[in-house]
Amino acid sequence: MIAHAPDASTEQLDQAIAAASRAFPGWAATPVEDRAAAVVALGGLIRDNAEELMTLLTLEQGKPRAGAEWEVFSSAIWCDEIAKQRLEPEVLLDNEERKVVTRYTPLGVVGAITPWNFPILLANWKIAPALVSGNTIVVTPSPFTPLTTLKLAELARDILPPGVFNVITGGDELGKHMTAHDGFAKIAFTGSTETGRHVMASAANTIKRITLELGGNDPAIVLPDVDPATVAPQLFWAAFQNNAQFCNATKRLYIHEEVYDAVRDALVEFAKGIKVGDGFDSDTGLGPIQNAPQYEIVKEFFADSQAQGHTFALGGEIDESLPGWFVPITLVDNPPEDSKLVQEEPFGPILPLLKWSDEKDVIARANDTQWGLGASVWGKDQEALERIAGQIEAGTVWVNEVRQSGPGQAFGGHKQSGLGCENSLHGLTEYTNWQTITVNKAADL
Ligand code: NAD
Repeated sequence: MIAHAPDASTEQLDQAIAAASRAFPGWAATPVEDRAAAVVALGGLIRDNAEELMTLLTLEQGKPRAGAEWEVFSSAIWCDEIAKQRLEPEVLLDNEERKVVTRYTPLGVVGAITPWNFPILLANWKIAPALVSGNTIVVTPSPFTPLTTLKLAELARDILPPGVFNVITGGDELGKHMTAHDGFAKIAFTGSTETGRHVMASAANTIKRITLELGGNDPAIVLPDVDPATVAPQLFWAAFQNNAQFCNATKRLYIHEEVYDAVRDALVEFAKGIKVGDGFDSDTGLGPIQNAPQYEIVKEFFADSQAQGHTFALGGEIDESLPGWFVPITLVDNPPEDSKLVQEEPFGPILPLLKWSDEKDVIARANDTQWGLGASVWGKDQEALERIAGQIEAGTVWVNEVRQSGPGQAFGGHKQSGLGCENSLHGLTEYTNWQTITVNKAADL
């Protein structure tokens, strides 16, 4: 136990929404340059308090120092960069008779619901665009990781008017009350596809705007022309960064049969050098599973692979006597395509390695999923890389890299990985209503 966070009542949620509603007209009327400056100032406060935020993040989430540093400083960068974005009115027509302009107006009070894998970064992906575009916001972090988000609100008190940015903590029930509440104009949600379905159904009640960033089962396709020793570390981190508790983790690794054994062996060798342990130890590469329910989910994947008689190239046994939810890095050697491990999202450090030989077939296998968040393709043959990338059904397809994303780049899922997007002007637009004003200049009334 490291801390207690309040379990807010519905009355307290009402109070938070009321505060955000009161603040909305003044904030919406504040010039965009001033709103943007406040968001930049928030980024500055994140930098000034980075040490404390990183410690809190490792404490509450378990991620090692390097991951905490990346997340905290990325949060500040997001504030800087989203603050530069502007949705200019579009003048569609302006002549002697008529003027037609489409402009973007804020929605009102936004409710943000975030997961436990990147608590502060994914909160900032919502706070920055909501505030820049003139909305006020109530953020509910995951009950498993409330601390960095609460700290952010404490910091923001010095730079934002009361009610503009609110944080309220509680259990899953709080999220349910938020999606049903008629005080929100929009719900910006990041979490599992299962919860996303509930959010969408509940938001229908008042036709709330929604952005859904949901789960994934990202495939990576490795061509026969790779150098196994060079590509293995990159593939390893594609799959295991943040202890594989990453929406965009590579969750299915398709390796061409000509290099399958060599890539598998190089992955095993590299993985053996990565220490799983306490995020505060400087030599730790991967931390624990973040929470008990997720630990149980990951254990089910291990149990299923064992029961199905899969071959483990590395790992395969969880030592439950260890204090903490530590799981060994596990590589499963070519399990059947229809196995639980290939079909579902483990969100933990167990990865299926799969063999392929025919390009059409591997593309079909990569696309044969309800999800479509991300994907990657690895190799030397540029033509083949881009040909394959262009046929994958996913919001982002990376070639010879993963998870390169930024505030200016639209991020979102195809199929059941989500609805709408975050980041870029497309993401900013989702915090606005468009409004068209047509003026009949020739009228003489
Ligand atoms: P989750 O769906 O269990 O919870 C997410 C949030 O929703 C939490 O704050 C939770 O309290 C709240 N919640 C729970 N039930 C709710 C309900 N009925 N109505 C409203 N809110 C409710 O997800 P998680 O376990 O915290 O996160 C892991 C999942 O998130 C994975 O599936 C992962 O792929 C996904 N994820 C997606 C992205 C993305 O950008 N697409 C990013 C990170 C994580």
